[in-house]
Amino acid sequence: MSISVSSQLAPARPADLPAMDKLLQHPQLTPLTAEYGITLITQQLRLLMDELRTRALAGKLTQSDIATDSVIAGLTTRLREVTSSRLKAVINLTGTVLHTNLGRALLPDSAIQAVMKVLTQPTNLEFDLASGRRGDRDSLVEALICELTGAEAATVVNNNAAAVLLMLSALAPQREVVVSRGELVEIGGSFRIPDIMSSAGCTLKEVGTTNRTHYADYERALGEHTAMLMKVHCSNYAVVGFTKTTEIADLVTLGRQHQLPVTVDLGSGTLVDLAQWGLPHEPTVRETLATGVDLVTFSGDKLLGGPQAGFIVGRKALIEVIKKHPLKRALRTGKLTMAALEAVLSLYRSPELLPERLTTLQLLTRAQSDIQAQAEQLQPALQSALGPDYRVSCEPMLSQIGSGAMPVDSLPSYGLVIHYCGSEKAGRHIMQLESRLRQQNEPVIGRIHKNAVYLDCRCLTAVQAQRLQTLWSSDGL
Ligand SMILES: *Cc1c(COP(=O)(O)O)cnc(C)c1O
Repeated sequence: MSISVSSQLAPARPADLPAMDKLLQHPQLTPLTAEYGITLITQQLRLLMDELRTRALAGKLTQSDIATDSVIAGLTTRLREVTSSRLKAVINLTGTVLHTNLGRALLPDSAIQAVMKVLTQPTNLEFDLASGRRGDRDSLVEALICELTGAEAATVVNNNAAAVLLMLSALAPQREVVVSRGELVEIGGSFRIPDIMSSAGCTLKEVGTTNRTHYADYERALGEHTAMLMKVHCSNYAVVGFTKTTEIADLVTLGRQHQLPVTVDLGSGTLVDLAQWGLPHEPTVRETLATGVDLVTFSGDKLLGGPQAGFIVGRKALIEVIKKHPLKRALRTGKLTMAALEAVLSLYRSPELLPERLTTLQLLTRAQSDIQAQAEQLQPALQSALGPDYRVSCEPMLSQIGSGAMPVDSLPSYGLVIHYCGSEKAGRHIMQLESRLRQQNEPVIGRIHKNAVYLDCRCLTAVQAQRLQTLWSSDGL
């Protein structure tokens, strides 16, 4: 039976809508029910019918909109949308390797395998296989961390912010912690040293000035309420020009004289000297401990290239106090983290193989020529997808390490630069293009710079490049 076009386009009234229970009995719903379950289907169908009723009342609904097939098609789309994951894999073409908003370090294969194991099987997470008694989850990685850093002891928590909070709460409650005014940092997303201090119940004793802090400033600040001398690594900024900082070694001397612990929040912290691969030097955890400081805190998912975690390493007597603090329990890491961490730390036993094995280092040490070749291969597909109103060129550019590491240094990279060359004003088109890329099925995250969209190919994998090539060659953008 064929229905005429005019009757299909005739307006539909609320009373014309198909009945819910009829629809729910429809044979086409059987496969949907198997996939989504009747509860979700009923809920989404009700919402869809409400929407159709509103449109009917507004006179914006036709007979064809309420045909059973259309309603079921609409329902299927809704079900697909509500069940699709909010956490999506994206393609990072920002040029920032350790991008906090994009989840920082990517894990190497060995860590993925280790995580899979603990996901599906019981483990000795907190069970001592030798004695058959309860164990300590830190013991899974503590010896390895000590081996790699020269520390006497170590503990791991949820992230470095937690590490600093725990260290201060355990060692300096109700007392003063001396920090230079040049180091009162804010790390993006509300980690601020003064706020962490007050959350931990400590009093921040600021010394010196923003650009210059002398040994004598620290010395003068010490008193009966002092609990700790703390240095914070300037991770995401640089103080340049007329500056003076006090060497860690001098603070150690001062701390020893007054029997006060000296601690360093290293932020990114790395376990190997990155200069051996032509990257800027960042103080290693071992070097920092070798100056004689009592404790060092650092992140697991910045330069270390592991999962989100925070470390406190150093003097055994202090670590023991920290481990007994109730916050340690509240801030502890989960088993997935421990599994990934052990796998990543193990890679550091063969440091010369790290650029092949540790994803973060792979990305940081990628040859510019390699990145250039990839950009050049992708250029024609993107140019044809965008059409003549845009000009896509391959250009050298600078990548950032990210996550606060070495904020003033950047890495020579290569990528695609998209300029608008149509007849209208470029600004709006460039913003729209950046947004369209971001809202692709597999989102591409670039950045706008000098009225152009920049797509840095440093973090683009071969597989992602292939998918983009196929997508842009077929569907356009
Ligand atoms: C990144 C950073 C932190 C916070 O570390 P998270 O692991 O993100 O919690 C704290 N201090 C410094 C100096 C940092 O660079």
